Amino acid sequence: MSKHQPLRPDVGQVVRLADFDPDYTGDFTDKDEAKDQLDENRDRLQDLQEVLYAEHKHALLIVFQAMDAGGKDSTIRHVMEGVNPQGVVVSNFKVPTEEERDHDFLWRIHRRTPRKGMIGIFNRSHYEDVLVVRVNELVPPDVWGARYDHINNFERLLADSGVTILKFFLHISKAEQKERFLDRLERPDKHWKFSRGDLPVREKWDQYMAAFEEAITRCNTEYAPWFIVPANKKWYRNLVVSNAIVDALEKLDMRYPEPEPDLDQIVIPD
Ligand code: AMP
Ligand code: MG
Repeated sequence: MSKHQPLRPDVGQVVRLADFDPDYTGDFTDKDEAKDQLDENRDRLQDLQEVLYAEHKHALLIVFQAMDAGGKDSTIRHVMEGVNPQGVVVSNFKVPTEEERDHDFLWRIHRRTPRKGMIGIFNRSHYEDVLVVRVNELVPPDVWGARYDHINNFERLLADSGVTILKFFLHISKAEQKERFLDRLERPDKHWKFSRGDLPVREKWDQYMAAFEEAITRCNTEYAPWFIVPANKKWYRNLVVSNAIVDALEKLDMRYPEPEPDLDQIVIPD
């Protein structure tokens, strides 16, 4: 059994990703052991999403960031399986369009935040603006450097407006990324997922890790926590993410709204 590893760094803790083992699986040794809990979480999540929607008081925002092949798409698919699609909006953030670039970096993000009753999922996010943008020097250091505070203020605004925020960094090793790229090259049904453009990004692995460390360190708050999800093992990754989502929703102590009065007097005409 591996030694205990926190899934959430403490607020204020300086994060060094080398201290977080991507192979960590907690008390579990294999997929079968985790299955029951994962199934139970799925059922819980379906119920919690329904009352979130009905109560119409809170919203949930889930942010996923990872290196390429880190498992963002597959985590979303597995963890949200069975949840009513009407209650969930997934947003993918790509290279900004010209219109998006003509605004502040949070403009395109803010309009995709979930409204009351909804779960919003970000596949990439405003964090790209202190990750790829920083590593590739797409804007000067003083510009990206000011963004950590902007992000914290923005997330505070959302939290104060009833949005519960969970941020997941899916942490894979460089060796695991290689395996997953090779798989994409070998399997015809996965060829479409391979992009030559991912290779120059891989070459800058260490710079990306430094950028992730700073983003997680500086933007890990009580109101918008970061989780460092050990993600080499897909089943453990899914379990960690689903546990965190179920826990956060349960803490909201949600209720179905009060029914209209005198429902028992209503007669439905033939
Ligand atoms: P994918 O998620 O594989 O479709 O790739 C989307 C690409 O868009 C990735 O290479 C991201 O790094 C890039 N991207 C996302 N947001 C930004 C941003 N704000 N500035 C520059 N590139 C971005
Ligand atoms: Mg890609």
